[in-house]
Amino acid sequence: MKKYQYDVIVVGAGHAGCEAALAAAKIGAKTLLVTSNLDNIALMPCNPSIGGPGKGHVAREIDALGGEMAKNTDKATIHIRMLNTSKGPAMWALRAQIDKKLYTQEMIYTLQTQENLDLKQEMVTELIINNQQIEGVIVKSGLKFSSPAVILATGTFLNGKIYIGKTTYGAGRGGELASINLAENLKELGFKIGRLNTCTPPRIDRRTVNFSSMKEQKSADIPLAFSFENEGKIYKNFSVFLTRTNQKTHQVIRNNIHRVPLSNGTIQSAAIRYCPSVEDKIIRFPQKESHQIFLEPEGYHTEEIYLQGFFTSLPADAQQEALHTIRGLENCEIIRYGYAIEYDIIYPNQLKYSLETKMIRGLFLAGQINGTSGYEEAAEQGLMAGINAVQLIAGKNPLILDRSEAYIAVEIDDLVTKSVTEPYRLRTGLAEYRLLLRQDNADLRLISYGYKVGLIAEERYKKFIKKKELIEKEKERLKEVIIHPTEEVNNLLYKLNTTPLSQAANLTTLLTRPEVTYQQTVSIDPQRPKLPTAVTEQVEIQIKYAGYIKRQKTQVKIFKKLENYKIPQGIDYFKIHGISHEGRERFSEIQPISLGQAKRISGITPADITALMINIEKMKRTKK
Ligand SMILES: Cc1cc2nc3c(=O)[nH]c(=O)nc-3n(C[C@H](O)[C@H](O)[C@H](O)COP(=O)(O)OP(=O)(O)OC[C@H]3O[C@@H](n4cnc5c(N)ncnc54)[C@H](O)[C@@H]3O)c2cc1C
Repeated sequence: MKKYQYDVIVVGAGHAGCEAALAAAKIGAKTLLVTSNLDNIALMPCNPSIGGPGKGHVAREIDALGGEMAKNTDKATIHIRMLNTSKGPAMWALRAQIDKKLYTQEMIYTLQTQENLDLKQEMVTELIINNQQIEGVIVKSGLKFSSPAVILATGTFLNGKIYIGKTTYGAGRGGELASINLAENLKELGFKIGRLNTCTPPRIDRRTVNFSSMKEQKSADIPLAFSFENEGKIYKNFSVFLTRTNQKTHQVIRNNIHRVPLSNGTIQSAAIRYCPSVEDKIIRFPQKESHQIFLEPEGYHTEEIYLQGFFTSLPADAQQEALHTIRGLENCEIIRYGYAIEYDIIYPNQLKYSLETKMIRGLFLAGQINGTSGYEEAAEQGLMAGINAVQLIAGKNPLILDRSEAYIAVEIDDLVTKSVTEPYRLRTGLAEYRLLLRQDNADLRLISYGYKVGLIAEERYKKFIKKKELIEKEKERLKEVIIHPTEEVNNLLYKLNTTPLSQAANLTTLLTRPEVTYQQTVSIDPQRPKLPTAVTEQVEIQIKYAGYIKRQKTQVKIFKKLENYKIPQGIDYFKIHGISHEGRERFSEIQPISLGQAKRISGITPADITALMINIEKMKRTKK
């Protein structure tokens, strides 16, 4: 029989699997991407959108490291906006509506044309393991594929079960087979398995909606793009529309609540807190008169409309009845009913920071299998697992980012240090250094890492270095531009609603005023060079928020001290004096690599940390 030998095997072609396979193959590893249905690659089983707070940041970080999500998004965008522009730049977030089918098609083509990458449609049923080292996978047809590194990115498919009212059946997601054998295999291997659930709203027929009574949200009127490599574009053809539930809707839901598996106790697992079902919202917030529903188009060549905000597992008849009470949806027809899905996860505290499992060398896990929810959350893990699988087989150190460098690191640190009790969703509130982790500067933060691991090509890196130089040069120039309190200057300042100058000041000082922008000062800065928007935006943000940025960088210095205080691996915590019983259990389970990580483990007290430090210092002295 033919022997299939690869450097890296990726199981599952969702958002995590696609990034993992592309990263591994681009770096030069002979890679196999095996997935149960090749037509459903990078499928979006829920919202037809990429981005939003935290998620948009991550999509840009993926781009800066050399991943695919942002580029693929730009190929399939039908509507795009920058959210939160009334707040500071740390909160700005790109969000694009996507043509779902196009997103899949484009990703399939990218994978098919990637050197070093083979695709196969097969269901993986078992892992081949020898002496706690992964050696490959076995698929349903009995074929074996060998590799020293395997990345599992199987999403919601492990023992997946769908619920619509009282109807339930096994499925990986709507219309796809669940992955049963692999789930059993992982249990037998001794992984600690959890169970979570999520749900999706109904899709309705555009032709049965009365949009005239709804609020329209147009795409941005300035050019925008997700990838740092792409020029922004303006999109005009698709709008999002807003309507609301009302008391009648809530009454229909209350009347049917006993038929809702998420509410009547049929589903016992934890649901996502930050994206609750409409039933959950009505029970948890009975005082609220109504909830927003956004009607989002699903693509160019479809009449399907996604109902953001109406996540549900109500029985089909009740879904229709509830929707008919909503303004503009009185006659709407459901094309696909909403449903809940329950699935197995592998608790992520069984992973190292590289996303390799602690138990089996060479086995990596990425995406929803680790308890996350969301396309972007999955994609970033896939990218990091793909990079680190190649680093491992090349005998190199893994790429591990820290919480002050990227949202990617915030998510991975949260997963491996704290694990999950409910589906994990990224939000800006999770990042303590969010003023530094802006979507606009993801390239400045991360491109060098992507270049170092071989994902950023020389040409792109050179362009980036040029951009960096232009930013620095312009910042230096602005310090030298002295503005005198002339009539012209003070008239301009008066128009901008800011105090006139009484003495000369440089342009940098003037730009720190909230009312004054870089663009508005062009008339008083005649020598201003013509620079790309990406450069001027960076110059402006760095000047305007310099004080806050400096303060946050000081906090990062303290944070780094704790991260750089390394803890030797393989400590028997049960032999260490002074640590509480819970502390010993938690340290043994997580095996923290730094004092910073040790402090973030839930249940760890300051006394545990002090005892740990005393013992590490003692160990160091003994070693000396
Ligand atoms: C019903 C539903 C509602 C959701 N709601 C939201 C939401 O509102 N917002 C949000 O951001 N996210 C939502 N999600 C989650 C989001 O879709 C996922 O988090 C994301 O797609 C996970 O990406 P992934 O790559 O980990 O897995 P997936 O995208 O699920 O991909 C898994 C891949 O693995 C393959 N596979 C599985 N088992 C095997 C096997 N044994 N052998 C070979 N191939 C296998 C599958 O074919 C698939 O290609 C929802 C998901 C579902 C199903």
